[in-house]
Amino acid sequence: MKKIARPSDGVGTVISDCFDFPKDSGLTNRLKRIAPSVVRAEASYIECAEHGQLHTISSSENVDGVVTSDEMTKVYEQKFSNIKGPGRRYYDKLMAAPALGRCPLCDIGTVSTLDHYLPKKQFPAFAVTPANLVPSCRDCNLGQKRAEAPKSAETAPLHPYFDDVETAVWLKVNLYVSGDSLVPRYGVVKPDAWDNVLYRRTLHHMELYELYKLYGSHAAEEISGRVRVWRSSYGESRAKQLKEQFSLDARSYEKVSLNSWKATLFRALFSQSDTVCRWLEMFPGDTP
Ligand SMILES: [Zn+2]
Repeated sequence: MKKIARPSDGVGTVISDCFDFPKDSGLTNRLKRIAPSVVRAEASYIECAEHGQLHTISSSENVDGVVTSDEMTKVYEQKFSNIKGPGRRYYDKLMAAPALGRCPLCDIGTVSTLDHYLPKKQFPAFAVTPANLVPSCRDCNLGQKRAEAPKSAETAPLHPYFDDVETAVWLKVNLYVSGDSLVPRYGVVKPDAWDNVLYRRTLHHMELYELYKLYGSHAAEEISGRVRVWRSSYGESRAKQLKEQFSLDARSYEKVSLNSWKATLFRALFSQSDTVCRWLEMFPGDTP
């Protein structure tokens, strides 16, 4: 998970552009009635998110019994995400926030949609609240992954606007030889500075978005693609040469993202270079 800067626009600004349906004065009037509530709800959301307490917010099928979740979805779809909607500039701003257009939830996919951290169907008060709208790739926003709201602190996925897990190494990968392959298996290690809740949330995040499998598949492809380069060094200095190269690669990828699958892979190649060298000797392949 990659942290991204919190949205600079509050829901009050969004409301001033999006709570207006000229052809439906009834809905417009009801939206005006709930506006103060939606602004208050945003403050409460931020307070909860800062303390990992979003699971304590109660779900509701409407806002104040005045506007239904279907109507708030209409506001989101017609006024906020619609390319011609008055709120589209806020939508575009949120979508453009992640560096390189990379999905902050998986750190692999390309941003293509906004994910409601608290689903808009159950939490209509946050349907157009920027702090609740996380840019994500299609895979991370699919199916059951985010259809349900977190039920406990431990099962709340990491929130890219509020959770910072980039100051310590927590992603690990173990490399082992199976058949003629060097197999990467990803896992999470708890940094000393973390409490158990953050550790469990990170484990949950990895499982929810199926990141062990995703990272493992990318790493396996990287190993297959690099193996000929690694085999091109041989003789007594091979171990030393490879170790130096792995260290350089690891430090280089860590500069981009400390806990990316790639930085983690090269850290493991460096620390398990003995295993890598034994594997290269067992299955010398077609080069040099
Ligand atoms: Zn993603």
